[in-house]
Amino acid sequence: MPIFEYSCRGCAHQFEMLVLPTITPACPKCASQDLERLISLPALKTEDGTQRAIKQSQARRMKGRTEEIVAQREYELKHDD
Ligand SMILES: [Zn+2]
Repeated sequence: MPIFEYSCRGCAHQFEMLVLPTITPACPKCASQDLERLISLPALKTEDGTQRAIKQSQARRMKGRTEEIVAQREYELKHDD
């Protein structure tokens, strides 16, 4: 069941509503059907978490690569003969 978040254009009230094909969503405060559908919060959170996870894994990879280069340079310096 899709739950959408709406913002009422009539009174600016924001609310979540379970949307059924048989029901036209209306503002629970002023009964207006002039509503703006907002991006649902759970979806937004998931996207944020995914992007953060990608950034963290990229940062880890970058760090690992830098350490490899440093180790390689140290090895070359010690074995420069
Ligand atoms: Zn309203």
